[in-house]
Amino acid sequence: MTPSPPARRRAVVSGFMRHRAEPTSLPASERQKISMIAAHIVRSARSTRAVKLVRLVGHADRDPGRGPAFERRISGQRAEYIRAALLDAIERASGGKYAGARIVWQIVATGASRPAIQTARSETDRARNRRVEIWLDPGGADPSSPPFVRWIQACLARVVQSRLAVTGRFDQPTRTTLGSFQTRRGLEPTSTLDMATLSSLVASCTGPPGLYCPQEGRLYSPATAALRCAPVPVTVTPATFLPAPTRTAEDAARAVLVQIGLSTPQLRTFAARGGIAAIRPIAEEMGSAALEELLRRLRYTSEKILSPPTTFDPDHPPPGIHLGPASLAPRLLLTIPGHFRELARRAPTASEAHALETIGWLLMAQLRDEVVRATGSRWWVPAPPAFVTPFANPLPPVGSDVSSLIIRRGMIDSTLDLSEYAVFFNAWNNGLPGAAWRLETGIQPSALGAGQPFYPQTIALPAVVNTAAERRQFDAAWAHRLAVTEADPRTPRGSPAWRRALSRDEPLPRNVARLLSPASMRGLELSANFPILAGNRLVRSVTVLRALEPIFTQLFQTIWALGWNDLVYQTAGAAVFRGRRPRPQVMSNHGWGGAIDVNSHENLQRAGSTGSMDPRIVAIFEAFSFVWGRCFPTPDPMHFEYCGTGC
Ligand SMILES: [Zn+2]
Repeated sequence: MTPSPPARRRAVVSGFMRHRAEPTSLPASERQKISMIAAHIVRSARSTRAVKLVRLVGHADRDPGRGPAFERRISGQRAEYIRAALLDAIERASGGKYAGARIVWQIVATGASRPAIQTARSETDRARNRRVEIWLDPGGADPSSPPFVRWIQACLARVVQSRLAVTGRFDQPTRTTLGSFQTRRGLEPTSTLDMATLSSLVASCTGPPGLYCPQEGRLYSPATAALRCAPVPVTVTPATFLPAPTRTAEDAARAVLVQIGLSTPQLRTFAARGGIAAIRPIAEEMGSAALEELLRRLRYTSEKILSPPTTFDPDHPPPGIHLGPASLAPRLLLTIPGHFRELARRAPTASEAHALETIGWLLMAQLRDEVVRATGSRWWVPAPPAFVTPFANPLPPVGSDVSSLIIRRGMIDSTLDLSEYAVFFNAWNNGLPGAAWRLETGIQPSALGAGQPFYPQTIALPAVVNTAAERRQFDAAWAHRLAVTEADPRTPRGSPAWRRALSRDEPLPRNVARLLSPASMRGLELSANFPILAGNRLVRSVTVLRALEPIFTQLFQTIWALGWNDLVYQTAGAAVFRGRRPRPQVMSNHGWGGAIDVNSHENLQRAGSTGSMDPRIVAIFEAFSFVWGRCFPTPDPMHFEYCGTGC
C-alpha cells in the first residue's frame, strides 16, 4: 500500500550570520522569501489546499568552539524567529484578517547534525548550513477513510454528477459535487462533510453496510498534532465502520487487499501461503469496509502485508509459529481495539463511547479464538484494560446498532447487574480514557483543540530529571571498556573481532550497575517477541537508569490506564551496555538506561525508515520528555530516549 503523499511545499532560508538567530541577520533576498511564503499561506486559505501545518526545521553550522549544545540551541532559536516573522508577515499580508493561530506549528532543532553541505570549506558554505527549512503542509485536510469517501463519491455520482470519479480521496471534483448536492438539498453549500449533509446522503442512497452514523453523534476527524517528530501519516488512523458480517469473506478480503495496493502476483502469493485463510474469521465478522480500515491502521506497505514483520529469524521460527502471510492474523487482531477507540469518538454519549471501547477488546479476544479454529494457532493478545467487562442485562443506554452488535456477539453476562457494570463504566468515565474522549471530541474544550492524540493536561507530568552526572559515570565506564578492548591484541581497533567485542551486551562495573534499576510495567503487557502464542512469558519490567525509574513507571502506567496496550505491545528492552550500530566505539544510548525500544520488529533502524508507530504513542513519549528515534540521521523508529531539558 502506498499512501498518497500530501502536497507539500518546502522552502529554505539560509545565510544567518554566525552566532545569530534573528531574521535581521539574514541577507535581504532571504528575508523577502518570508513575505512570499506568508502571502502563499494567506492565498491558500481560500483554496482547498489550505496550509494547516508549518514545520520549521532549524539548522546550525558546526561550531567546535561552542559545541553541540550551543548548535542545538541556536538552530531551535532560528526556527522560532522564523515562526514569529512568518506570523507577522501573515498578519500584514491578510490585513490582519487571517488568524495565524489556525496553523499548527512544528519546531525542530537539529543542531549541526544535518548540514546542507557536508564538508563546508568556505564561509559561504558554512552560511548555507545556517538555515531553516520551511515545510508547508495541508495538514489533516483529508482524514476520512478511503472506503467512506468511495461510498460518498458513488452516492454523489448517482444523484448529482454521473462522471464523478470514485477515487477514495476527498479531491476537488468531490468537493465541488458535494457543494452542488448541498445546494439542491437546501443545505449550506460548504463543500465539506457535516452531519446534516451525511444524513441527507444516507437518505438519498442506501447507506453502506456498517456505517457508524449515530443520531446526535459527530463526524469525528483526528487532527494533526504539533509533534517534534511527526509520524507518517501524521494523524491517527480514522474509523467509520462497525462490523458488517459477510458470507463471502474470502472474496471481500481479496478485494480489500487489492484496494490497499497489493498487486495481482502479491495477492496470489498471499493466498497461496495461507494469508487469506488466516484472516478469514476477521474478514467474515468485519465485512469489507471495516476490514479495509483495520488493514490501513497497520500502516504497512504491501510488502509488509505479504511478509509481516517478526522478531524471529524467518527461516527458523519457534515450534508452533507459522511466519509469512498467515502471521498477519495476530497483528491484525491487535488493530481491533484501536478501531473501536476511534469509532467511540463519534459516539453521542459517554455511555456509548465506553461500550464501543469495551466491544473492541471483547471482539479481539473472540476473534482470536475463531482464528485458532481457522489456523490452529492460539495467538497471544494483550489482556483488556481495567474498564472492560462483559455487558450487564439489561444493557446500558446505547444506540440500536451498538446494542445489536453486543447481542449478536453474545457479549452479555446475565449474572452482572447494572450497578456492577457501573463500576467499569465509572473507571472509564472518571479515569484517563473518559477525560481523553471528552477532550478529543471537543465536549470539553482545550487550548490544544479537538482531535489530538494525547492531552498532557489529563495527568501530572513528572518533573524533568537531570541525568548529566550519571551519564558521566557511564561514559567513564565505556571509555575504560573501549581502552581495555583496544589494548587486547585479539581485538585490534577496526577488526571484526573488535566490532563484535564492542557490540555485545556486557555486565557493567559494579559502581555503575548500581545506577540502574528495574521499572515496573504497571499492568502493561509487553512481549519480548512477536508474534507469540498465548501462555508465553511476558515482560513485566525493564532495566533503566535509577533516576528515571519513576518517569518510566508513570509512563507505562499512563499507557495502561488509557487502554493503549494494543498500540505498544512489544519491547526489545531498555538498558544494554554495548556500542552503537554502526559505530561500535561510541556507547549506545541504551548504555546509560535512558532509552527503550518498542514494537521493534516493524520499526527497524535503517535509512528512510518511517516505521508504523501510532501518533498517540509518539505524542505520549514526547509529553514525558522523550525524543523519538525516527528523526535521527539514521531513522530508528523503535527507539524512544529520555531527553529531559534538552528535548
Ligand atoms: Zn534503541
